[in-house]
Amino acid sequence: AAKALAGGRWSSFDPSAAVRQARSRRLERDMRDALRNRQFFLRFQPQIEFASGRLLGAEALIRWNHPEFGLISPAEFIPIAESSGLICEIGRWTLFEACREAAAWPGELGVAVNVSALQFEQSDIEADVSEALSGSGLPSSRLCLELTESAFLGNGGAVIAKMCALRETGVVIALDDFGTGYSSMSYLADLPLDKLKIDQSFVRRMNANPNVLEIVRAIISLANGLKLQVVAEGVETELEADALQRLGCETGQGYLFGRPDEAIRMLSKWNAQKRLSA
Ligand code: C2E
Ligand code: MG
Ligand code: MG
Ligand code: MG
Repeated sequence: AAKALAGGRWSSFDPSAAVRQARSRRLERDMRDALRNRQFFLRFQPQIEFASGRLLGAEALIRWNHPEFGLISPAEFIPIAESSGLICEIGRWTLFEACREAAAWPGELGVAVNVSALQFEQSDIEADVSEALSGSGLPSSRLCLELTESAFLGNGGAVIAKMCALRETGVVIALDDFGTGYSSMSYLADLPLDKLKIDQSFVRRMNANPNVLEIVRAIISLANGLKLQVVAEGVETELEADALQRLGCETGQGYLFGRPDEAIRMLSKWNAQKRLSA
């Protein structure tokens, strides 16, 4: 019906949908062995302080190197992992792997890990985090968990209790993709958050649409008022970075600073600078 309304031609049989479904069933099947066969790996995208260009840390973004289809985006396979329940196992692997790699990074650099709502509902996220930290030696303050608003749709109370417990151990909590999805302001009053990530769809449109700019201004002011750090996602141009900085957003990530594989390169530069100044 949505398609008909949008002016598309209605058809009761959409072959491309059938192809998509077959591929998704295939991916679901193959995913069961992908962990064991080490087909997943992490990319790290730098998070930057706008004013200084300083590297603050990186977000871990999962990739699947499928033996037949090649590199598959998490935008495609994470939803499949969520509907099949495999997300808990995959998410646990991501958490452990991200902590293990980040423990070797210098200084205070942080690592952000995306955590699915289902991991909060169905697995013992507190035990997983504590095991990942103790196993890797990464200090809790250097781990940030990124949750989306969907985490609070179901069993909000239980999720909030787990978030509080995690935060008490020193782990940083960020709300990802803020402003999209089923946004409701009311939960912001009760969530134990440290950071708010402005969704890239706002960043993308803020310089073309004055209304979007006002929304970004309001999000930043809301975050400041709630004493939350603001991180802008998807910063691609100097123009966007300047506008965000003028509005009071101090940190961001995006192709302007590095693609999701460039944190490691920046780390070695960071090391070199440290050695020079030492
Ligand atoms: P996200 O957490 O919001 O991650 C940001 C996404 O934006 C990443 O896509 C990143 O590559 C992309 N991005 C970063 N900078 C730019 C930019 O300047 N321009 C544009 N156009 N895009 C940019 P990616 O890696 O494809 O990941 C997509 C989503 O998949 C992530 O969105 C996250 O929700 C999910 N995801 C990734 N890894 C994991 C994971 O380990 N666990 C879970 N549960 N979800 C994950
Ligand atoms: Mg994220
Ligand atoms: Mg995001
Ligand atoms: Mg996203």
